Amino acid sequence: MAVASRKFFGTNGIRGVPGKDITLEFIAEMSQSIGTFLGSSKPVLVGNDVRNSSPSLVGSVLSGLLSAGNNVNAGGLAPTPAHQFGVRTLGYVGGIIVTASHNPPQYNGIKFVGSDGVEVRREDEAAVEAIYLEKKYNRPDWQAVGRSGKESRVIENYIAGIMSQVNVPRISGRKFTVVLDIGNGAQAVASPYLCERLGCKVITINAQPDGNFPGRGPEPTPAVLKDMCEAVRSYHADFGVAYDGDGDRSLFCDENGEIYWGDRTGSMLADYLLSKHEGGPVVTTVSTSALVGIVAANHGAKVLWTTVGSVDVSRAMIDNNAPLGLEENGGFFYGPHIPVRDGAMTTALVLETLAARNISFSQAISKLKTFYQKKSKFECPKEKRPNVMKIIEAKATRSGAKIDRTDGLKIWTDDNSWILLRPSGTEPIIRIYSESDDEEKLEKMYAGYEQALKEAIEAS
Ligand code: MG
Repeated sequence: MAVASRKFFGTNGIRGVPGKDITLEFIAEMSQSIGTFLGSSKPVLVGNDVRNSSPSLVGSVLSGLLSAGNNVNAGGLAPTPAHQFGVRTLGYVGGIIVTASHNPPQYNGIKFVGSDGVEVRREDEAAVEAIYLEKKYNRPDWQAVGRSGKESRVIENYIAGIMSQVNVPRISGRKFTVVLDIGNGAQAVASPYLCERLGCKVITINAQPDGNFPGRGPEPTPAVLKDMCEAVRSYHADFGVAYDGDGDRSLFCDENGEIYWGDRTGSMLADYLLSKHEGGPVVTTVSTSALVGIVAANHGAKVLWTTVGSVDVSRAMIDNNAPLGLEENGGFFYGPHIPVRDGAMTTALVLETLAARNISFSQAISKLKTFYQKKSKFECPKEKRPNVMKIIEAKATRSGAKIDRTDGLKIWTDDNSWILLRPSGTEPIIRIYSESDDEEKLEKMYAGYEQALKEAIEAS
């Protein structure tokens, strides 16, 4: 196989600003390359999120696939995990989803998934890139171009799939009230209907799909979710949940409007779900709270720690037959449904957890050990980074700390305290994540390494 000399696929598909970084011709030829890679035995599903540029990009994707001889069905607007589940269950050889997830409105891109609905492996992306660069894609004559059709089952298939994974009568019996902050994204067409069918009283905010994301932007972070928390308190709801633009990530607040990062909600879910899926394992990234390890150990389950990235979690789940995966940014993966992060599936699992245990969200969270976290990022030119990381590693080694090199440097200063320094794959920055069960210890550890990092950047 030829080695691609350029890399188009990033950590999560191909992304850029249409008209600037990515052209319609590029998307068409890349889709032609994907179609060639897949072969033309079964149709390819093409889906999209709410972005203004999505219809034009879908046109290019369809054009590329059809000209490579692939039959295609357009699934229209749906959350990314709905399209992924559709590819897996409705008889497709693969799928291309037009989305830029949580990126600002001007961005868009494509995500390429295999017949299992999961993003393809890195080596398959490289094979597609090689086909593209060598222009070795199929160019059949007029008699052999693909046929195009519609796929209208994506949303209903998705909602039914999620409902089949949870105890519907038990959830309906609790008559939950939930606030859904759709963020003008793709869950507008799925999650509210799912929650209604699970017997919930549903209050939605930012529920109109809109590619300008006028509500609170496409990325759910605690800083932009005040309206959701306020709505939860004023409607006396059981919890609130906010999705990202394409509906695969979800951040929750409890009945008091307190927001939790994904590793805390994910640990709460794991604590319940590991009683159903004995032994796990649970897959998560090295930037996730040690809480996951404690919860898993309580159930006699193992945790597999991966490099940072949702595809890394999905692939490790498949390789290890793991039922659960999670990320600190609000990604939760439920293997029995599909091992990809999924905002609506996660919402249904939260409902089931609270119903099965007959407790409130804050009660479920309060069962978990408290950890304190601090995250930030430092600018550092890419060429300086190897030396900077070497200096930090030497400091950690001198101090006798345990070092994990899965992704960047994760330095354990004691059993419940660690700091992770990780050069970003896309920007000239080094990210810092740190955690301890002791707030004072966290401050001291963080300050020490922050100082060391500043000095190392200066000296490099
Ligand atoms: Mg997303």
